[in-house]
Amino acid sequence: MDLKAHIRDIPDFPKPGILFRDITPLLSDPTALQYTIDLFAEQVAEYRPNYIVGIESRGFIFGMPLAYKLGVGFAPVRKPGKLPAAVHTASYALEYGKDTLELHQDAFPEGSRVLIIDDLIATGGTAAATAKLVEQTGCTVAGYGFVIELVGLEGRTKLPDVPVTVLLQY
Ligand code: IMP
Repeated sequence: MDLKAHIRDIPDFPKPGILFRDITPLLSDPTALQYTIDLFAEQVAEYRPNYIVGIESRGFIFGMPLAYKLGVGFAPVRKPGKLPAAVHTASYALEYGKDTLELHQDAFPEGSRVLIIDDLIATGGTAAATAKLVEQTGCTVAGYGFVIELVGLEGRTKLPDVPVTVLLQY
């Protein structure tokens, strides 16, 4: 299936000069949606995760059905102040300033293999910060999965030594 036919390009969103890859047409097409989740699950199963972590907020959309299909647990990584119990915190640099992500300290039993899922990898900062959070819980990053990779930004170079699955490259 031509999944790229279900990704919409939005120029100048959220800021002038940025070409936003919009996955909502893929979500609204039942055949493309089922195909995407089935293919994604098939490709990440080999990482043998015990848990999946989804990054707010589009990582939730893909991470949860993958956890269901693989028969493993799910935990959300969220923006600051959203998670109710004790959290680990990781910050990462943005073009201007920084951003912070949080994960519950008791999200997984120590020693678990955790698969990190998001819709898209650009510079890799978000995924690398999530890996730091997983490591703070005493767990191992088993792999990363993204629907889309923006290849020119070389985000993968921030994710060394752990396998990465992507379904589409731009
Ligand atoms: P990174 O930290 O630079 O790799 O940015 C990745 C994060 O930004 C992910 O959580 C994405 O959801 C979001 N993001 C960046 N660019 C896009 C885009 O073109 N479409 C959808 N999400 C994007």
